[in-house]
Amino acid sequence: MTSLEPDERYSRQILFDGIGAAGQQKLAAARVAIVGCGATGSALASLLARSGVGAIRIIDRDYVEASNLQRQTLFEEADASESLPKAIAAARKIAAFNSQIVIEPQVADLTPTNVDSLLAGAGLILDGTDNFETRYLINDYAVKNSLPWIYTGAVGSYAVTMNVVPGRTACLTCVFPEPPGGALETCDTAGILNSAVNLAASIAATEALKFLIGAESQLRHTLVSFDLWRNERSEISAAKPRPGCRTCDAREFPHLAGEGRPHITLCGRNSVQIHERHRPMDLTEMSERLRIHGTVKHNDFVLKFWHDPYEMTLFPDGRAIIKGTSDTAVARSLYARYIGN
Ligand SMILES: [Zn+2]
Repeated sequence: MTSLEPDERYSRQILFDGIGAAGQQKLAAARVAIVGCGATGSALASLLARSGVGAIRIIDRDYVEASNLQRQTLFEEADASESLPKAIAAARKIAAFNSQIVIEPQVADLTPTNVDSLLAGAGLILDGTDNFETRYLINDYAVKNSLPWIYTGAVGSYAVTMNVVPGRTACLTCVFPEPPGGALETCDTAGILNSAVNLAASIAATEALKFLIGAESQLRHTLVSFDLWRNERSEISAAKPRPGCRTCDAREFPHLAGEGRPHITLCGRNSVQIHERHRPMDLTEMSERLRIHGTVKHNDFVLKFWHDPYEMTLFPDGRAIIKGTSDTAVARSLYARYIGN
Protein backbone atom coordinates (compact mmCIF):
# COMPACT_ATOMS: atom_id res chain seq x y z
CA MET A 1 0.00 0.00 0.00
CA THR A 2 1.25 3.48 -0.82
CA SER A 3 1.98 5.72 2.14
CA LEU A 4 -0.18 8.81 2.51
CA GLU A 5 2.18 10.28 5.10
CA PRO A 6 2.86 13.95 4.26
CA ASP A 7 6.58 13.29 3.71
CA GLU A 8 5.72 10.82 0.98
CA ARG A 9 2.67 12.59 -0.46
CA TYR A 10 4.49 15.90 -0.87
CA SER A 11 7.95 14.45 -1.47
CA ARG A 12 8.35 15.93 -4.97
CA GLN A 13 7.38 19.36 -3.73
CA ILE A 14 9.64 19.12 -0.68
CA LEU A 15 12.50 18.21 -3.03
CA PHE A 16 11.92 21.47 -4.87
CA ASP A 17 14.45 23.98 -3.55
CA GLY A 18 12.07 26.87 -3.17
CA ILE A 19 9.77 24.94 -0.82
CA GLY A 20 11.59 22.26 1.17
CA ALA A 21 10.31 20.64 4.37
CA ALA A 22 9.94 23.96 6.20
CA GLY A 23 7.90 25.45 3.36
CA GLN A 24 5.69 22.38 3.25
CA GLN A 25 4.91 22.79 6.96
CA LYS A 26 3.96 26.40 6.39
CA LEU A 27 1.58 25.33 3.63
CA ALA A 28 -0.03 22.82 6.00
CA ALA A 29 -0.66 25.61 8.51
CA ALA A 30 -2.02 28.06 5.90
CA ARG A 31 -5.66 29.13 5.42
CA VAL A 32 -6.85 30.62 2.16
CA ALA A 33 -10.21 31.65 0.72
CA ILE A 34 -11.11 31.20 -2.94
CA VAL A 35 -13.92 33.49 -4.06
CA GLY A 36 -15.76 31.87 -6.96
CA CYS A 37 -15.32 28.27 -8.03
CA GLY A 38 -15.89 28.31 -11.77
CA ALA A 39 -13.02 27.64 -14.12
CA THR A 40 -10.28 29.71 -12.46
CA GLY A 41 -11.48 28.88 -8.96
CA SER A 42 -11.55 25.13 -9.76
CA ALA A 43 -8.02 25.23 -11.10
CA LEU A 44 -6.76 27.26 -8.13
CA ALA A 45 -8.51 25.00 -5.61
CA SER A 46 -7.22 21.87 -7.29
CA LEU A 47 -3.60 23.07 -7.45
CA LEU A 48 -3.53 24.43 -3.89
CA ALA A 49 -5.30 21.40 -2.42
CA ARG A 50 -2.87 19.02 -4.12
CA SER A 51 0.01 21.19 -2.90
CA GLY A 52 -1.13 20.64 0.69
CA VAL A 53 -2.49 24.05 1.68
CA GLY A 54 -4.04 23.14 5.04
CA ALA A 55 -7.42 24.89 4.91
CA ILE A 56 -9.27 26.17 1.87
CA ARG A 57 -12.63 27.93 2.01
CA ILE A 58 -14.47 27.79 -1.31
CA ILE A 59 -17.18 30.41 -1.80
CA ASP A 60 -19.54 30.02 -4.77
CA ARG A 61 -23.29 30.41 -5.23
CA ASP A 62 -23.73 28.59 -8.55
CA TYR A 63 -24.47 24.98 -9.41
CA VAL A 64 -22.70 22.78 -11.94
CA GLU A 65 -24.03 22.82 -15.52
CA ALA A 66 -23.04 20.84 -18.60
CA SER A 67 -21.42 23.89 -20.24
CA ASN A 68 -18.97 24.10 -17.29
CA LEU A 69 -17.36 20.71 -17.96
CA GLN A 70 -15.18 21.98 -20.83
CA ARG A 71 -12.97 23.91 -18.40
CA GLN A 72 -14.06 23.58 -14.76
CA THR A 73 -11.72 20.78 -13.82
CA LEU A 74 -13.19 19.78 -10.45
CA PHE A 75 -16.58 18.77 -11.86
CA GLU A 76 -18.02 15.67 -13.47
CA GLU A 77 -21.08 14.82 -15.55
CA ALA A 78 -22.85 13.48 -12.45
CA ASP A 79 -22.43 16.85 -10.70
CA ALA A 80 -24.11 18.57 -13.65
CA SER A 81 -27.00 16.11 -13.81
CA GLU A 82 -27.55 16.48 -10.04
CA SER A 83 -27.13 20.30 -10.31
CA LEU A 84 -24.83 20.18 -7.30
CA PRO A 85 -23.65 23.55 -5.99
CA LYS A 86 -20.09 24.10 -7.21
CA ALA A 87 -18.74 24.65 -3.69
CA ILE A 88 -20.14 21.28 -2.57
CA ALA A 89 -19.05 19.40 -5.71
CA ALA A 90 -15.55 20.91 -5.39
CA ALA A 91 -15.27 19.92 -1.73
CA ARG A 92 -16.30 16.33 -2.53
CA LYS A 93 -13.85 16.04 -5.39
CA ILE A 94 -10.97 17.46 -3.34
CA ALA A 95 -11.76 15.15 -0.42
CA ALA A 96 -11.32 12.22 -2.82
CA PHE A 97 -7.74 13.19 -3.70
CA ASN A 98 -6.66 14.91 -0.47
CA SER A 99 -8.58 13.97 2.66
CA GLN A 100 -5.85 15.39 4.89
CA ILE A 101 -6.70 19.04 4.42
CA VAL A 102 -9.78 21.00 5.46
CA ILE A 103 -12.14 22.23 2.75
CA GLU A 104 -14.92 24.55 3.82
CA PRO A 105 -17.56 24.91 1.10
CA GLN A 106 -19.80 27.99 1.35
CA VAL A 107 -22.77 28.13 -1.02
CA ALA A 108 -23.02 31.91 -1.14
CA ASP A 109 -22.40 35.01 -3.17
CA LEU A 110 -19.75 37.27 -1.64
CA THR A 111 -21.54 40.53 -0.75
CA PRO A 112 -20.82 43.56 1.47
CA THR A 113 -23.13 42.02 4.08
CA ASN A 114 -21.30 38.69 4.42
CA VAL A 115 -17.75 39.58 3.33
CA ASP A 116 -16.47 39.84 6.93
CA SER A 117 -17.74 36.44 7.97
CA LEU A 118 -16.89 34.65 4.69
CA LEU A 119 -13.31 35.91 4.52
CA ALA A 120 -12.57 35.85 8.27
CA GLY A 121 -9.46 33.89 9.17
CA ALA A 122 -8.04 33.71 5.65
CA GLY A 123 -4.37 34.63 5.32
CA LEU A 124 -4.69 35.05 1.55
CA ILE A 125 -7.63 35.58 -0.78
CA LEU A 126 -7.71 34.17 -4.30
CA ASP A 127 -9.90 35.48 -7.05
CA GLY A 128 -11.95 32.89 -8.91
CA THR A 129 -14.70 35.36 -9.78
CA ASP A 130 -15.83 36.45 -13.22
CA ASN A 131 -16.80 40.06 -12.45
CA PHE A 132 -15.28 43.34 -11.38
CA GLU A 133 -18.02 44.14 -8.88
CA THR A 134 -16.85 41.28 -6.66
CA ARG A 135 -13.17 42.01 -7.35
CA TYR A 136 -13.54 45.60 -6.11
CA LEU A 137 -15.31 44.25 -3.03
CA ILE A 138 -12.40 41.85 -2.38
CA ASN A 139 -9.93 44.71 -3.00
CA ASP A 140 -11.69 47.04 -0.53
CA TYR A 141 -11.82 44.30 2.11
CA ALA A 142 -8.19 43.28 1.56
CA VAL A 143 -6.78 46.82 1.62
CA LYS A 144 -8.85 47.78 4.66
CA ASN A 145 -7.69 44.70 6.57
CA SER A 146 -4.12 44.57 5.15
CA LEU A 147 -4.65 41.13 3.69
CA PRO A 148 -2.93 40.00 0.49
CA TRP A 149 -5.01 38.84 -2.46
CA ILE A 150 -4.37 37.71 -6.02
CA TYR A 151 -6.41 39.03 -8.93
CA THR A 152 -6.89 36.38 -11.63
CA GLY A 153 -9.01 36.50 -14.76
CA ALA A 154 -9.49 34.65 -18.03
CA VAL A 155 -11.78 35.20 -20.99
CA GLY A 156 -11.47 34.07 -24.60
CA SER A 157 -7.77 33.22 -25.00
CA TYR A 158 -6.72 35.95 -22.58
CA ALA A 159 -5.28 35.35 -19.09
CA VAL A 160 -4.34 38.00 -16.54
CA THR A 161 -3.13 38.06 -12.94
CA MET A 162 -1.66 40.43 -10.35
CA ASN A 163 -0.60 40.15 -6.71
CA VAL A 164 -1.94 42.77 -4.32
CA VAL A 165 -0.03 43.26 -1.07
CA PRO A 166 -1.76 46.19 0.64
CA GLY A 167 0.58 48.99 1.67
CA ARG A 168 3.39 47.66 -0.51
CA THR A 169 2.20 47.04 -4.04
CA ALA A 170 -0.46 48.62 -6.22
CA CYS A 171 -4.02 47.56 -5.48
CA LEU A 172 -6.71 46.80 -8.06
CA THR A 173 -7.98 50.41 -7.99
CA CYS A 174 -4.42 51.75 -8.48
CA VAL A 175 -4.26 49.89 -11.78
CA PHE A 176 -7.94 50.05 -12.77
CA PRO A 177 -9.62 53.12 -11.25
CA GLU A 178 -12.59 52.04 -13.38
CA PRO A 179 -13.35 48.51 -14.57
CA PRO A 180 -11.19 47.84 -17.67
CA GLY A 181 -12.70 48.14 -21.14
CA GLY A 182 -13.04 44.45 -21.80
CA ALA A 183 -14.61 43.85 -18.40
CA LEU A 184 -18.05 43.44 -19.87
CA GLU A 185 -16.92 40.52 -21.95
CA THR A 186 -17.60 37.31 -20.11
CA CYS A 187 -17.23 33.69 -21.07
CA ASP A 188 -20.98 33.79 -21.81
CA THR A 189 -20.35 36.30 -24.59
CA ALA A 190 -16.74 35.78 -25.72
CA GLY A 191 -16.27 32.09 -24.99
CA ILE A 192 -13.18 30.81 -23.25
CA LEU A 193 -10.30 28.40 -23.81
CA ASN A 194 -9.57 26.07 -20.91
CA SER A 195 -5.84 26.58 -21.49
CA ALA A 196 -6.17 30.34 -20.81
CA VAL A 197 -7.85 29.54 -17.50
CA ASN A 198 -5.19 27.06 -16.50
CA LEU A 199 -2.37 29.45 -17.39
CA ALA A 200 -3.83 32.26 -15.25
CA ALA A 201 -4.52 29.85 -12.39
CA SER A 202 -1.06 28.25 -12.59
CA ILE A 203 0.67 31.60 -12.24
CA ALA A 204 -1.64 32.71 -9.42
CA ALA A 205 -1.29 29.40 -7.55
CA THR A 206 2.50 29.65 -7.75
CA GLU A 207 2.40 33.20 -6.38
CA ALA A 208 0.09 31.90 -3.63
CA LEU A 209 2.68 29.29 -2.62
CA LYS A 210 5.33 32.03 -2.45
CA PHE A 211 3.08 34.14 -0.20
CA LEU A 212 2.22 31.26 2.06
CA ILE A 213 5.78 30.11 2.67
CA GLY A 214 7.12 33.67 2.96
CA ALA A 215 9.28 33.66 -0.21
CA GLU A 216 8.67 37.39 -0.56
CA SER A 217 11.69 38.18 -2.69
CA GLN A 218 10.32 35.84 -5.37
CA LEU A 219 6.91 37.49 -5.65
CA ARG A 220 6.04 39.09 -8.98
CA HIS A 221 5.26 42.82 -8.86
CA THR A 222 3.55 43.28 -12.20
CA LEU A 223 0.17 42.86 -13.79
CA VAL A 224 0.96 40.19 -16.34
CA SER A 225 -1.29 39.13 -19.20
CA PHE A 226 -1.14 36.70 -22.08
CA ASP A 227 -3.19 36.20 -25.18
CA LEU A 228 -2.54 32.59 -26.06
CA TRP A 229 -4.26 32.77 -29.45
CA ARG A 230 -2.51 35.92 -30.66
CA ASN A 231 0.81 35.04 -29.00
CA GLU A 232 0.91 38.32 -27.11
CA ARG A 233 2.27 38.98 -23.66
CA SER A 234 2.33 42.20 -21.69
CA GLU A 235 3.48 43.23 -18.28
CA ILE A 236 3.01 46.51 -16.45
CA SER A 237 4.56 47.48 -13.14
CA ALA A 238 2.38 47.20 -10.07
CA ALA A 239 5.25 47.46 -7.61
CA LYS A 240 4.08 50.59 -5.80
CA PRO A 241 0.72 52.02 -4.73
CA ARG A 242 -0.43 54.85 -7.00
CA PRO A 243 -0.46 58.23 -5.20
CA GLY A 244 -4.04 59.47 -5.05
CA CYS A 245 -5.58 55.97 -5.31
CA ARG A 246 -8.97 56.25 -3.66
CA THR A 247 -8.64 52.83 -2.09
CA CYS A 248 -5.12 52.51 -0.75
CA ASP A 249 -4.22 56.20 -0.49
CA ALA A 250 -7.53 57.88 0.47
CA ARG A 251 -8.75 54.69 2.17
CA GLU A 252 -12.28 54.95 0.83
CA PHE A 253 -14.07 51.63 0.72
CA PRO A 254 -17.39 52.22 -1.05
CA HIS A 255 -17.75 48.58 -2.11
CA LEU A 256 -17.83 47.44 1.52
CA ALA A 257 -20.59 49.92 2.26
CA GLY A 258 -22.70 48.81 -0.71
CA GLU A 259 -26.03 47.14 -0.41
CA GLY A 260 -24.83 44.15 -2.32
CA ARG A 261 -26.46 42.91 -5.44
CA PRO A 262 -29.91 44.12 -6.33
CA HIS A 263 -32.64 41.66 -5.46
CA ILE A 264 -33.25 40.75 -9.05
CA THR A 265 -30.47 40.49 -11.64
CA LEU A 266 -29.83 39.19 -15.11
CA CYS A 267 -27.38 36.35 -14.98
CA GLY A 268 -25.92 35.07 -18.20
CA ARG A 269 -28.05 34.88 -21.30
CA ASN A 270 -31.77 34.38 -21.02
CA SER A 271 -31.75 33.91 -17.29
CA VAL A 272 -32.76 35.94 -14.23
CA GLN A 273 -31.75 35.56 -10.60
CA ILE A 274 -34.12 36.51 -7.80
CA HIS A 275 -33.12 36.75 -4.18
CA GLU A 276 -35.63 38.92 -2.51
CA ARG A 277 -36.92 36.31 -0.12
CA HIS A 278 -34.70 36.22 2.93
CA ARG A 279 -36.01 33.20 4.67
CA PRO A 280 -34.97 29.61 4.18
CA MET A 281 -36.96 27.30 1.94
CA ASP A 282 -37.69 23.64 2.67
CA LEU A 283 -36.81 22.00 -0.65
CA THR A 284 -38.65 18.74 0.14
CA GLU A 285 -41.86 20.58 0.95
CA MET A 286 -41.45 22.84 -2.09
CA SER A 287 -40.87 19.79 -4.26
CA GLU A 288 -44.24 18.32 -3.16
CA ARG A 289 -45.99 21.61 -3.93
CA LEU A 290 -44.47 22.01 -7.38
CA ARG A 291 -44.93 18.42 -8.52
CA ILE A 292 -48.44 19.07 -9.86
CA HIS A 293 -47.18 21.89 -12.10
CA GLY A 294 -44.25 20.26 -13.84
CA THR A 295 -41.18 18.06 -13.45
CA VAL A 296 -39.31 18.44 -10.16
CA LYS A 297 -35.99 17.05 -8.94
CA HIS A 298 -34.19 17.96 -5.76
CA ASN A 299 -31.35 17.05 -3.41
CA ASP A 300 -30.18 18.62 -0.14
CA PHE A 301 -28.72 21.64 -1.91
CA VAL A 302 -30.86 22.53 -4.86
CA LEU A 303 -34.29 22.00 -6.44
CA LYS A 304 -34.93 22.03 -10.18
CA PHE A 305 -38.40 22.67 -11.55
CA TRP A 306 -39.20 22.44 -15.27
CA HIS A 307 -42.31 24.17 -16.47
CA ASP A 308 -42.07 24.58 -20.22
CA PRO A 309 -40.46 26.85 -21.49
CA TYR A 310 -38.95 27.77 -18.13
CA GLU A 311 -36.45 26.07 -15.88
CA MET A 312 -36.39 27.21 -12.28
CA THR A 313 -33.59 26.44 -9.83
CA LEU A 314 -34.23 27.03 -6.13
CA PHE A 315 -31.75 27.10 -3.25
CA PRO A 316 -32.37 26.54 0.48
CA ASP A 317 -31.74 30.25 1.18
CA GLY A 318 -34.75 31.17 -0.96
CA ARG A 319 -32.75 32.27 -3.99
CA ALA A 320 -34.02 31.32 -7.45
CA ILE A 321 -32.56 31.30 -10.94
CA ILE A 322 -35.12 31.31 -13.73
CA LYS A 323 -33.99 30.29 -17.20
CA GLY A 324 -35.99 30.83 -20.34
CA THR A 325 -36.49 34.58 -19.99
CA SER A 326 -34.43 37.72 -19.70
CA ASP A 327 -37.48 39.75 -18.68
CA THR A 328 -37.27 40.45 -14.94
CA ALA A 329 -41.04 41.12 -14.70
CA VAL A 330 -41.82 37.71 -16.20
CA ALA A 331 -39.33 36.06 -13.83
CA ARG A 332 -40.80 37.81 -10.83
CA SER A 333 -44.35 36.81 -11.69
CA LEU A 334 -43.29 33.17 -12.17
CA TYR A 335 -41.59 33.31 -8.78
CA ALA A 336 -44.66 34.80 -7.13
CA ARG A 337 -46.94 32.24 -8.78
CA TYR A 338 -44.98 29.08 -7.95
CA ILE A 339 -42.83 29.92 -4.96
CA GLY A 340 -44.84 32.62 -3.22
CA ASN A 341 -43.54 35.73 -1.53
ZN1 LIG B 1 -4.59 51.46 -4.69
